[in-house]
Amino acid sequence: MAPRPPHWLKRSILPLWNGGHHLARRGRAIAQAILAGRVGRCVCCGRRAAFLFEPGIIPPKLIELWELTPELADAFTRKESLGCSACGAKLRAQRIAQVILGVYPVKPPAKSFADWARRPEIETLAIAEINTIEGLHESLRNHPRTKVSDFRHGGARGEVIDGVRHEDLSALTYDSAEFDLVLTSETLEHVPDLAAALAQIRRVLKPSGRHIFTIPMLPNVERTYARSVLNGAGKVEHRAVPIAHPGGDTGYPVFTEFGEDIVELMALTGFATVVHYGPVRDEDVAQVYEAIKIS
Ligand SMILES: [Zn+2]
Repeated sequence: MAPRPPHWLKRSILPLWNGGHHLARRGRAIAQAILAGRVGRCVCCGRRAAFLFEPGIIPPKLIELWELTPELADAFTRKESLGCSACGAKLRAQRIAQVILGVYPVKPPAKSFADWARRPEIETLAIAEINTIEGLHESLRNHPRTKVSDFRHGGARGEVIDGVRHEDLSALTYDSAEFDLVLTSETLEHVPDLAAALAQIRRVLKPSGRHIFTIPMLPNVERTYARSVLNGAGKVEHRAVPIAHPGGDTGYPVFTEFGEDIVELMALTGFATVVHYGPVRDEDVAQVYEAIKIS
């Protein structure tokens, strides 16, 4: 039997080995993007970049549980990848940026979200970034009136943990009518009490303020439904096959599966909603929702 490499040697070589693999994979993804013509200026950071398709970003288990056709699995993979090689903004972040540039125009027109966030007329816009959105966050964290928060299990509401404010969407600690714009991306489906979350977002928005967001949605789901619910004792009860999205230690459980009635549902909670890049279809599931608070 060959002698095993000593522990210290493995410890020093493994990161290099893994790093090498990562670089090789990234190199291949960049080459593929260039060959496929997926290059251009990134709407988030404004740099020339390749947009990297990452097969495997949607775990096979999720594809199986969600019963995705290969076409739909590809559409979700595009939504969650096609990341900018310079700033990492995924397709859904790039589309949120594009919608924001359209909704809050500046003169002369902004060349990117980064450019937009630095404009004097945007400095007065009060923004809540609920959970970090890669590609937007880098610009927003330097924006004087953006408040950034994250959800931390076990945190007290409003508590700053490791430099980040903990906020629970269904019980925000922000003031009423504090924000012009609230941003969430792939977050609403994980909130156990969706009605409370929408009511809270509405509360912290100024009149005619906007909640711009993305959610996962399959085509041809007519009605929004609860996949899981939190019972009175605080335990998760399943109403359909439980699904968790990748992330954290054990994944994030999905409570709500959204359907075609989303605009109707938003209207019932006091929002007029515009669907950008819609409707949801087999070849494109990366819609952006712009919900305007109705007074
Ligand atoms: Zn970028």
